Amino acid sequence: MSQADEQNYYYRSTPRTDLHAPLTGEQRFDVCVLGGGISGISAALHLAERGMRVALLEAKHLGYGGSGRSGGQSIFGYACEQATLEKAVGAADARRMWDVAAEGLQLQRDLIAKHAIDCDYVPGHMIVGLKRRHDDSLRAELDHLSRHYGYGSLRLIGRDELRTIIASGRYTSALLDSNGGHLHPYRYTLGLGRAAARAGVSIFENSWVTRLDVAQNAGADNLVHTSQGTVRARHLLVAGGAMLGPLVPSLANKLMDIGTYVAATEPLGEERARALITNNAAAADMNWILDYFRRSGDHRLLFGGRVSYSGIDPFDSGRVLRARMVQVFPQLADVRIEYAWGGYLDITLNRAPHFGRLGPNAYFIQGLSGHGMVISGIAGKLVSEVIGGTADRFDMYARIPHHSFPGGTWFRRPALVLAMLWFRIMDLL
Ligand SMILES: Cc1cc2nc3c(=O)[nH]c(=O)nc-3n(C[C@H](O)[C@H](O)[C@H](O)COP(=O)(O)OP(=O)(O)OC[C@H]3O[C@@H](n4cnc5c(N)ncnc54)[C@H](O)[C@@H]3O)c2cc1C
Repeated sequence: MSQADEQNYYYRSTPRTDLHAPLTGEQRFDVCVLGGGISGISAALHLAERGMRVALLEAKHLGYGGSGRSGGQSIFGYACEQATLEKAVGAADARRMWDVAAEGLQLQRDLIAKHAIDCDYVPGHMIVGLKRRHDDSLRAELDHLSRHYGYGSLRLIGRDELRTIIASGRYTSALLDSNGGHLHPYRYTLGLGRAAARAGVSIFENSWVTRLDVAQNAGADNLVHTSQGTVRARHLLVAGGAMLGPLVPSLANKLMDIGTYVAATEPLGEERARALITNNAAAADMNWILDYFRRSGDHRLLFGGRVSYSGIDPFDSGRVLRARMVQVFPQLADVRIEYAWGGYLDITLNRAPHFGRLGPNAYFIQGLSGHGMVISGIAGKLVSEVIGGTADRFDMYARIPHHSFPGGTWFRRPALVLAMLWFRIMDLL
């Protein structure tokens, strides 16, 4: 474990001794999956359950990406609003995409139950507002989702009731989704990994894919190379998330990798932790540069927020997150941060998911834009459907138009810094 990874509460609370061996030599499979996050593992698991021979290649270890670093909040819908999808693909497909996301919430619970994954799943998620403008948006969101999408699990909570739930004077309203929830994301990822291995998936860790030869003809095999081996497979899924880097330039252009951080307090004891969020739901605020927090199974507060455009360790994230946490919960002024870690988000320009094909039998999933705890699992299942012969649910996502980030390789990051400055100013208004 690297020094930075030692600061990851999830890794530290779930030590692993059973790493899978790296890929060696040339091996043949029906499907090769690049990426040992929830997207890749879910696809591999569902494909193996369909009787396919599947190899999964992970650069480091399962859960090395967002899936083992996340705030663990299971949230309805997508990172973009439904209105963005309605505009992009029309009301009918936006509705089908909503249904996929809603199925994703159910799938997450089903996978946890079916594979007996011990990941501290707790139901309940709240989007919390900080000002009148947010209260109005939450009311409009509730109205839109219940009227046009028939989503019946939402409840708007006003300021007075909210103060009995979240022990903070900061929030003015909340949209509680009893269908959302939160979990220990690394244990969930590893649990899916164990289920995939049991279903027959060959998992190779420490197997960094250095080159892809994507077949452009349906009868040919895709070749996936690591430094020590090659997988030859008729079907390929690229699910490398924000860590994929420049391996596939046409995918990299559509993403901005943004660093973001989470901190875990020392254990607070059950009573003190419970008093902070009495309904034990997860919470995320409505600012562009948002704060999000939840209780952990061992009675800590996990508090996330802040973004960085230049890497994930450039500053003392624990100190910065602690200061934000104390703004929300001044009663935690005496509490120590025990762990603080970072990870990268794979953000698209419109924050809609970016799924599609690189060749007739080569697929990709990316761009979950910081909202992938739920969508990753169902996206993996959609890939198993398309490889199994039913393409329509996966292919509808390819109809979402995605633009490259402006500014090319060198100038898009400064452009984003300016954009984020604007978002920060918006948060203050
Ligand atoms: C700090 C943080 C907090 C977050 N909080 C939330 C939250 O509360 N709720 C929410 O919904 N979402 C959240 N997210 C986003 C969520 O974690 C991701 O959307 C989700 O985990 C993406 O899953 P994935 O499988 O697509 O990608 P990942 O989990 O990133 O997995 C991709 C894997 O591919 C591997 N890989 C990359 N390149 C290669 C290669 N060349 N060869 C082999 N392997 C490769 C990586 O090592 C990685 O393990 C958060 C993300 C971060 C970083």
